[in-house]
Amino acid sequence: MPGLSEPHQPVTALPAEDVFTALETSRRGLSRAQAHDRLRTHGANELPRTAPRAVWRQLGAQFTDLFAVVLIVAAGVTFLAYGLEEPRDAGTATLAVAILGVVLLNAGIGFTQEYSAERTAQALEAMVPRTCQVVRGGERLELPALDVVPGDVVVMEAGDAVPADCRVAEAHELAVNNAPLTGESNAVGRTADPVAAGPLLEARNCVFMGTDVVTGSGLAVVFATGAATEFGRIYRLAAAAPRQKTPLQRQVASMARRVAGVALAIGALLFAVRLPSGDSVVQPFVFALGVMVALVPEGLPATLSVSLSIGVRRMARRHALVKRLLAVEALGSTTVICTDKTGTLTQAEMTVTEVWTEGRSHSVTGVGYEPRGEITDSASVRELLRVAGLCCNARLVPPTGPTERWRVLGDTTEGALLVAGIKAGLDRRADEAAAPRVTEFPFDSDRKLMTTVHRTGAGYQAYVKGAPGEVLARCAGIQQAGRSDALTGTYRTAVAAVADGLASKGLRVLAVARRDLHGPRPAQEEAESVLTLLGLVGMQDPPRPEVTDAVTACRRAGIRVVMVTGDHPLTGEAVARRVGLVRGSEPVVVTGTQLDGMDDAALDSLLATPSDLLLCRVSPEHKMRVVTAFQRHGEVVAVTGDGANDAPALKHADIGVAMGASGTDVAREAASMVLLDDSFASIATSVRLGRAVYQNVRKFLVYLFSHNVGELVPILAATFAGFPLVPINAVQILAIDLGSDVLPALALGAEPPESDVMDRPPRSRNERLFSTSVVGRILFLGGIQALCVSAVFFWHIGSSGIPFGDFTQDTRVYQEAITMVQAGIVLSQFFNALTVRSDHRSVLTVGLTSNPALLAAGGFGIALMAAISYLPTLQAVFNTAPLDAGDWTVLAGLGTVPLLADEARKALLRRRSGRSAGGAK
Ligand code: ATP
Repeated sequence: MPGLSEPHQPVTALPAEDVFTALETSRRGLSRAQAHDRLRTHGANELPRTAPRAVWRQLGAQFTDLFAVVLIVAAGVTFLAYGLEEPRDAGTATLAVAILGVVLLNAGIGFTQEYSAERTAQALEAMVPRTCQVVRGGERLELPALDVVPGDVVVMEAGDAVPADCRVAEAHELAVNNAPLTGESNAVGRTADPVAAGPLLEARNCVFMGTDVVTGSGLAVVFATGAATEFGRIYRLAAAAPRQKTPLQRQVASMARRVAGVALAIGALLFAVRLPSGDSVVQPFVFALGVMVALVPEGLPATLSVSLSIGVRRMARRHALVKRLLAVEALGSTTVICTDKTGTLTQAEMTVTEVWTEGRSHSVTGVGYEPRGEITDSASVRELLRVAGLCCNARLVPPTGPTERWRVLGDTTEGALLVAGIKAGLDRRADEAAAPRVTEFPFDSDRKLMTTVHRTGAGYQAYVKGAPGEVLARCAGIQQAGRSDALTGTYRTAVAAVADGLASKGLRVLAVARRDLHGPRPAQEEAESVLTLLGLVGMQDPPRPEVTDAVTACRRAGIRVVMVTGDHPLTGEAVARRVGLVRGSEPVVVTGTQLDGMDDAALDSLLATPSDLLLCRVSPEHKMRVVTAFQRHGEVVAVTGDGANDAPALKHADIGVAMGASGTDVAREAASMVLLDDSFASIATSVRLGRAVYQNVRKFLVYLFSHNVGELVPILAATFAGFPLVPINAVQILAIDLGSDVLPALALGAEPPESDVMDRPPRSRNERLFSTSVVGRILFLGGIQALCVSAVFFWHIGSSGIPFGDFTQDTRVYQEAITMVQAGIVLSQFFNALTVRSDHRSVLTVGLTSNPALLAAGGFGIALMAAISYLPTLQAVFNTAPLDAGDWTVLAGLGTVPLLADEARKALLRRRSGRSAGGAK
């Protein structure tokens, strides 16, 4: 394939019509067989990934973080102490091994976590495959970008990502953003004309993989794919972009560091207190080190990551792909959602139901894109629908199987016009043949209109369709009884009234107009002025059934939903009423033009009004301004967007939400979340899941830290009471931290959302994870636990009658007492896990068995404790003794004390909030 292997210079220098032959293709594109052959020769259109980080490297990295290093040093020092001790104490060696065990276990959790996060990210990426529109065998098809081959004819529109390196063969106001390749962020215009030889990247008639179409439309022929592209030459895809830590992760990491500092201080204190009473330095040192290691919350960051990634996976199952972990947290504190209308609140299944022309209204039957239905007096609407249809880029795709439906490739508004045309008896191919398109001024949501120029038997004509206000402003005449009458003020008012009438029924309204031209290449100004209005088209787009409930849920959850639409205010209001966004008789409806007239102060006071707010006929720039204004007010804003020029607002918002089904590549790239089904209801679900993640993190923090209090207080009490030994030794504490506590913490991190999670206002953006209420709860539950186990310990020691000074490690009563302390904490943690599941609801309301994983994890901890108490090998390691049934009963009873106390606290809280709610009524 000589033309394909070294095409650059010749291809850029050729006139557009010769490009097809040079690249061994044609305007009709490649045939299926040719495409197949070329795919075999050139391979898939993808960049070679750099080899992922080797598994051993990933594993190795786990041992170099701060915690791991501290623990490894601690284990080394303990081994050293064991070597220096005279006589040697097997307990010291056990502690050293246990610390190494902690390091290994943490590395294991960290590694699995990272590995599965990477896999999840890859899986999520694969769920939104990149596609592009390509002409093959004369048909326009949507293909995965991977399948594009040299010689393919690519159809490009604003917002599309360029799938490969191509020579432009047709350009209508086409401009691309070459920033990924050249660093220049301005949009650069493209042409189909030949250019002089020079560097390929500077050729104005080429578009390159990795860049995006900013405005306009065009046709281009692929000359290089995959690694052969300029992008492929410059870049190697990084295996994984460095993942930024989220605020929650940063808060937990800094908390863990602070706790480690406190542990160090406590360790030093214990060492200082015990040093004078011991025979050697080694024993108090090893003891202090053990307590320190036990108090460090090693598993915390990993548990948090697990919890966040569970949130991400749950959202993916509910059609919301989170691209940045940050969004999971931000979703939980969202206070305002600015939502599009078409496709998000509605089904984006447009059907023309009314056509108005020559002073009369004609109704259209049928639903969706299936071209079956009737139009009253169809002959009289044919010219309007012919013009509208020729001014469209969308294509109708018939079903290929019995379960499939008619689909639209391209803009759904245009799809509806084509369907109406077929219902009126038009044949698009014949119309196109009779009036071939010469040029186009593409639609964009700022101009709200689109124009095409055609060569007809009667000379050149411009066909225009767009928002009625925009089109009417450019009309000088109106089609009446086969001729163009002047569009006088009375006519204008009458037409506007008809358009408003259609809009107030909730219909999307388009005006269609025409103009005779002098030549094939008019300036845009010429093509879009002195037009003759042919009439109006009204199309209906039914609301999504699930949206009404989602809107109600958001209201209950204290989230404000603001509709931001490019559509007519009356259409917007009608749809808003249908989905429950507007309830009162007087919503505040503000148009883009009115927004332009407001300064920031006026906008701020508008947004501060708590009434139902609809922003209509707005452009993406307005959207950006509104998002910024809300953020100025301290709101956490989620905003939806689908067009290329929505990207700034999507990037600027706290959560940019792009449409997976209908949105552009550019919007998807800019967003932090992509909705696979485009539905507003999926945003509401994600907010619910985002809130649940935050709640779960709080649950396991309270759970994990409360037992630290339960361990530390008895140790301090014994030290200051002058008891020569500890109520619980370091190896036992490690067994709790790593044996019985890890799994319940993970199960708490995976809890489904609480049923009332959407009945509360959003969490404040400034709320700290370790709020007064969280710390208070840790001290409350941990304090009671500490009192109970301390009482058990001193009661058991005291009732033996042995003086404190006579106790040694081998005293049986001592061994029983420390076993009881450990078992007491394990049992109490089992009940704590149940109570931390809700701040204010009783465990009975939450359901004792509603999280079976938690029960199983708790059961495992108790079984492990039993093994430590009864198995001789473990008794030797932990210095424990067998407990009898009476001991277990007492411990189980005491274990429920924190739970019962918490139940009483919750009941009080509920009574108080019931009373204040009653008082507020
Ligand atoms: P929504 O919030 O409903 O999604 P939007 O912001 O997507 O609305 P636009 O697509 O910008 O709205 O459309 C604004 C107006 O432009 C529409 O009300 C319609 O009158 C007109 N319009 C929409 N699509 C086209 C098109 N393909 N060609 C010409 N005019 C169009």
